[in-house]
Amino acid sequence: MEDIVINVTCPKCANEFDKKAKELKDGTIVSCPKCGDKTTIKGNMFTDMQKNLDRSS
Ligand SMILES: [Zn+2]
Repeated sequence: MEDIVINVTCPKCANEFDKKAKELKDGTIVSCPKCGDKTTIKGNMFTDMQKNLDRSS
């Protein structure tokens, strides 16, 4: 299985970082590597990601 990476933007400092899609699910909490703020992967981010996956397959 290929590693699909999604881009997460920190709402606090606007830092962008990548997370592997297989590590994420709706409601997963990730920490920004720059400021340490915790971001919850929201449902719309997750569905957008899945839409992109559908399009590319
Ligand atoms: Zn941040």
